[in-house]
Amino acid sequence: MTSPLLTDDMLACSTESADSSSVSRRRLRVCHECDLLLALPVLKTGEKADCPRCHHTLVRRQANAAERSLALAIATLILLGLSLSFPFLGFSLQGLGNGIALTETVSSLVVFEQYLVALIILLTVLVLPLLYLSALCWLCVGIIRGQPLAQSPLIARTLNHVTPWMMADVFVIGTLVSMIKIIGMAEVELGLSFWTLCGYALMLLFTSQSVDRDWLWQALDSKSMAPAGGQLGQAAAAQGLTGCNTCGLVNPITKAGRCERCDEPLHPYHGVNTQTTLALLGAAMLMFLPANLYPIMITTSLGSTEPATILQGVLMFFQHGDWPIALVILIASIFVPVGKMLALLWLCFVVQRQQQQPMGRLTRIRLYRMTEFIGRWSMVDVFVVAIMVALIHSGDLISIAPGPAALAFTTVVILTMLAAMMFDPRSIWQANASHSDSLVTTPITSPDSSPKEHL
Ligand SMILES: [Zn+2]
Ligand SMILES: [Zn+2]
Repeated sequence: MTSPLLTDDMLACSTESADSSSVSRRRLRVCHECDLLLALPVLKTGEKADCPRCHHTLVRRQANAAERSLALAIATLILLGLSLSFPFLGFSLQGLGNGIALTETVSSLVVFEQYLVALIILLTVLVLPLLYLSALCWLCVGIIRGQPLAQSPLIARTLNHVTPWMMADVFVIGTLVSMIKIIGMAEVELGLSFWTLCGYALMLLFTSQSVDRDWLWQALDSKSMAPAGGQLGQAAAAQGLTGCNTCGLVNPITKAGRCERCDEPLHPYHGVNTQTTLALLGAAMLMFLPANLYPIMITTSLGSTEPATILQGVLMFFQHGDWPIALVILIASIFVPVGKMLALLWLCFVVQRQQQQPMGRLTRIRLYRMTEFIGRWSMVDVFVVAIMVALIHSGDLISIAPGPAALAFTTVVILTMLAAMMFDPRSIWQANASHSDSLVTTPITSPDSSPKEHL
């Protein structure tokens, strides 16, 4: 069954005459990563369209998109409910034991007055995914009924902002790392909630992957279209146009600076501007010092207290021969944040110099995408602290408290994620663009899975 509001054939047109008909103007898109004005070809189910210049995926058409997203979102919500209803983890040592629910990973941090870290864990693992899934159900029900429900455009706008901050999958990795840490000192018991949490994290990934925002906005409002007269294969900014990052509509650059369809602020390209990224990077680098100099966890064992910094924790695991876990923490807590900060600094440097660099633009954009992708995985260590603090509190026998570095490190992760978001990848392409880069007009289509039917 296809959506009653949109078929891809409704948008079908010649991709070479952008301004020849109103139908063709509905197919115009601006690549978010290189600012090229393009026309979408007719796509079959399972196909995606990539930008021919930077290979950024513009759209990805799914079969029965609304029904699929709705089913996935409901299943994920059920798994989230189950994760909150059963015991999560338990540990026992010399007759003393402790079992925790998932929410205690947050409440234990509140006991130690780590309010900000507790809030960030609550938001990234539970609250934001809950909002996202509920919003998606609301939108999909309206689309399936053929009549979008109240406030659908406003709700659809929030999806874009919430997606990068959902970290249930990182939390699962944090749980696994914590378990390996605890197995060395005590017996660990996996509660039912642990298994449902794994399912919830996996299904949340599938659900967010199932959403084609371009299709969603066409389903909510298929009337809006790009202004006439756009030249395909040319930079949008040079034609006074810009693509909306939220709904994908091509807008003229106006003083109001808001999208005509979704009312989100537009971000037209006005030349290289790396100030915000550099300011956020500078703040992240400053916070990286206390994150590594102060202890991240304070362990009390048989009456003696032992604070440990991130690096000391890594060394301890190496000394005990637990090198795989040491390597995971070393990569997530040191290599990823440092590598990400250096990569972003280097990208800011090369786009400002606007000279031919030994590394090609495609390599630079891949480096940028990688920094955006890996940034959130540094939260593993923060989640490990939250789980260890909640699970291990048996008085003087053994207890773990969070150290001041936990907050500093959380701040580093958030600042570097914001720095990557603020970096404008269009500056990689606009600086020194060659003539051959401007000749492409139609996106490359490739099967995502085997095509079956037209949408
Ligand atoms: Zn592109
Ligand atoms: Zn928009």
